[in-house]
Amino acid sequence: MERIILIKYGELTTKKANRNLFISKIYEQMKELLNNYDVKITKNRVRMFIECHDKDLDEVVNIVKNIFGIHRIVIAYKVKTDIEEIEKNVLNIVKNTEFKTFKVETDRADKSFPIASMDFSKQIGALILKNIPNIKVDVHNPEYLLKIEIRKDYTYIYSKEIAGLGGYPVGIAGKGLLMLSGGIDSPVAGYMAMKRGIKLECIYFESPPHTSPAAKEKVKKLVSILSTYQASIKLHVINFTEIQEAIYKYMNHEYMITIMRRMMYRISEKVMHERNSLVLINGESVGQVASQTLTSMGVINSVTNVPVIRPVACLDKLEIIDIAKRIGTYETSILPYEDCCTIFLPKHPVINPKLDKAIAYEEIIDYETLIDHAVKNRETITIELNQKPFDL
Ligand code: ATP
Ligand code: MG
Repeated sequence: MERIILIKYGELTTKKANRNLFISKIYEQMKELLNNYDVKITKNRVRMFIECHDKDLDEVVNIVKNIFGIHRIVIAYKVKTDIEEIEKNVLNIVKNTEFKTFKVETDRADKSFPIASMDFSKQIGALILKNIPNIKVDVHNPEYLLKIEIRKDYTYIYSKEIAGLGGYPVGIAGKGLLMLSGGIDSPVAGYMAMKRGIKLECIYFESPPHTSPAAKEKVKKLVSILSTYQASIKLHVINFTEIQEAIYKYMNHEYMITIMRRMMYRISEKVMHERNSLVLINGESVGQVASQTLTSMGVINSVTNVPVIRPVACLDKLEIIDIAKRIGTYETSILPYEDCCTIFLPKHPVINPKLDKAIAYEEIIDYETLIDHAVKNRETITIELNQKPFDL
């Protein structure tokens, strides 16, 4: 018997054009993520099928589990749509399965099959009862639920369904630029944005020699973990040293972080436009630190008119940590490499900054030139799934 992976899409694909786009985005991700495997992927409007070597099956399922837009994943036996074939194979399957109560559910997707779904379930149920001793039918709470999905040429027989991640396929909403530090919050924010169908590019600000090469490797590693969910991700590395040193040298230290973050937003906006992204995404969380009071957020955000999404804004730190652990970024995020913000941390950052003051301080330097220079000289790295090694 041949095994096959059967994919059930999310249930939200109502409009026909949207549905096609939805499916093709899942298909695209799948092709890229399974690039290293010998697989055959076919799709129709309700299902996608992956055929692969038996030895690869578990690994392939594990990769597919991380594709957004998939509702359920099933490992099914594929047999010819033929009553005798189906019966023979069902018996083979149930003989190798331990259970006391069971139920058969048939879905006759091909109406040219001569027996109606309910009748066929009864027929197969009777066959199982006749061949396996000491078992009973339980239609309400069966220990073993056998599903038979009858399609035109082939029929799929399966039991266990694996939950997919849900959400929307990456890319369906367009592109977004994630401000990615080495911390816990921003990778989680990126994951949540991807789940809504946003295809990510990332931007990271470093300040060498104040920040080390290891800090950058850590960010690359985080991107590679996020590429479990999006096959290939671009990372823009901005050299922020000149700007940060100028802020440190010339500006009121209380406003250092406010102004630094205003510069980050300005740079991010420029990169976002250059890359045809539609939105900025970051890991700000209300009230976590001085720069994340609502007043601070307002003063910082006022440098731009582009939409900024903050997926973790209203989560507690513990909730963010839970997600970070689940998606696999936590262990990397807590590695102790310095961040460009922590190095230039003032003793008393202003908690309620004033916009006019921030503007007055900023104007001491010709930041437009510095910003253009930083954007122009950025390094862009493409990081692929499971890319290794990182120098940590
Ligand atoms: P994180 O855990 O993501 O580092 P945080 O709680 O440390 O966040 P901040 O340092 O105030 O908070 O940063 C808020 C957000 O600003 C980050 O989540 C990230 O999106 C962005 N950010 C901060 N530092 C950088 C950086 N060096 N490069 C890119 N983005 C940054
Ligand atoms: Mg941080």
